[in-house]
Amino acid sequence: MTEMYGKGILKGLSVTAKRFLETYLDDILWLGRKRYGSDEGIAHRASKKGRGIFTIQYPEEKLPVPEEFRFVPFLVYTESPDGQKVIRCTCCGICAKVCPPQCIWIVRSNDPATGRPIPTPAEFYIDADICMNCGLCAEYCPFDAIKMDHVYELASYGRNIFDIQHLLKSADYYRSIRPANAAREDEARAAKEAARATSAK
Ligand code: SF4
Ligand code: SF4
Repeated sequence: MTEMYGKGILKGLSVTAKRFLETYLDDILWLGRKRYGSDEGIAHRASKKGRGIFTIQYPEEKLPVPEEFRFVPFLVYTESPDGQKVIRCTCCGICAKVCPPQCIWIVRSNDPATGRPIPTPAEFYIDADICMNCGLCAEYCPFDAIKMDHVYELASYGRNIFDIQHLLKSADYYRSIRPANAAREDEARAAKEAARATSAK
């Protein structure tokens, strides 16, 4: 029994020693290239070819997240030809209704002259400390106005209640983090607009 334990310990130590030596070997093979702190180096260490150290030196290094990764949502705006932010959200309230922990608050705008409601938010809050990152708001929004973000470093000493200024991000940003999703939605929107234009003729 004692002998068995001794063998196991030696086997474990040999794995550690192999990793230790391979780390230096790979460092030598990578001379002139950035093995640490570069996308190429991280991808190599995460691949089957990676040898030696494979831990990520966070926060100096970060693993790339997949397209479908989701954290706290953000609101999408497009830009008008004169550079104004056009908020896609129409204040329909569906996201707030489907949100399981009820962490979305929306205040609709009113026309200052008539007092009638305008389909654009005056205020929009998400309590990021309560959000469970489920993505239902983004799934249900009929206007592609709210999307799940990739930003996950939100630690702070205070409450993370995000207001509309914090939540607004451009459609170009959305395309940069979720290119396949954005392309699919752009295509569907263009097809819908073309169908509407044809039926109006
Ligand atoms: S579901 Fe979309 S359009 Fe409706 S309130 Fe939420 S973000 Fe705005
Ligand atoms: S991701 Fe889920 S929990 Fe977070 S705001 Fe959207 S619906 Fe609510």
